[in-house]
Amino acid sequence: MAYVYDEQNIFAKILRGEIPNKTVLETEHALAFHDIQPQAPVHVLVIPKGPYVCYDHFALEASDAEIVGFNRAVGEVCKMLEIQPGEGGDGYRVISNAGENGVQEVPHLHVHVLGGRWLGRMLK
Ligand code: 5GP
Repeated sequence: MAYVYDEQNIFAKILRGEIPNKTVLETEHALAFHDIQPQAPVHVLVIPKGPYVCYDHFALEASDAEIVGFNRAVGEVCKMLEIQPGEGGDGYRVISNAGENGVQEVPHLHVHVLGGRWLGRMLK
């Protein structure tokens, strides 16, 4: 089944500069910005600049440069926000929701980077 990307989704509009955002980091392949409804003291969204719906779409169809660039940006964000364990922070959680079961609200791949408080146990 082909992936169908909706050019009118909110993050596409953010990438086109049609909706403002509080940018944390921008690189050739990624944009990181504060979530509008933060669930933790640190709640940043990192998105690839390409039109990818979800994680598997990106991982299977993006170029190696895009994949490396995006992942590096996620790492940079953790470093910049000083949430990486043992190096100025107490750790973080990276989450990417996909589809209905994953409760994905915005159909442009994004990872949530959460930190700044104890986040509780998610999986047993
Ligand atoms: P999802 O459920 O798709 O994984 O999460 C989407 C996230 O995008 C939510 O945490 C929501 O608060 C955030 N969000 C939705 N609209 C906007 C927006 O216009 N600006 C920003 N910065 N975040 C948004």
